[in-house]
Amino acid sequence: MADKYVDFVIGKQKNIALIAHDGKKAEMIDWCDEHKEILAQHFLCGTGTTARMITERTGLPVKGYNSGPLGGDQQIGAKVVEGVIDFIIFFSDPLAAQPHDPDVKALLRIAQVYDIPMANNRATADFLIHSSLMNQEYTHKVLNFRAHIAERAKTL
Ligand code: PGA
Repeated sequence: MADKYVDFVIGKQKNIALIAHDGKKAEMIDWCDEHKEILAQHFLCGTGTTARMITERTGLPVKGYNSGPLGGDQQIGAKVVEGVIDFIIFFSDPLAAQPHDPDVKALLRIAQVYDIPMANNRATADFLIHSSLMNQEYTHKVLNFRAHIAERAKTL
């Protein structure tokens, strides 16, 4: 039987997605500015408005996907599945209802499925960005989707 898990490698240069709800955008920009030197060593992307505002205010290049409420979180989730994004900083706002709450939950879930490092607040983001693993390759175990599909097709 094929292995249940496969090794995935998060490279030395991470593919980092940056997302901030409106009430957290100022904090995200401030955090990016504070860690500009480190962030500049990685590939950055984000939901549309967050990406644009970070680039405008810090000068960091951030590839923008669609705006979160218009599907940006789902695009980022899809890139996690494709292995294109392997690190997420997501400053969600715990005090404001979001029209795209299901998409937010879906992104949290898919990041768990693919064992992606993900910070949901500034303190966690600080711990992650100062981790020695930021400067190394990191091998982790992710569900072997081929084996998973083969197994399901046999048993259902
Ligand atoms: P935005 O989306 O960067 O386009 O504002 C973020 C979000 O609310 O998910």
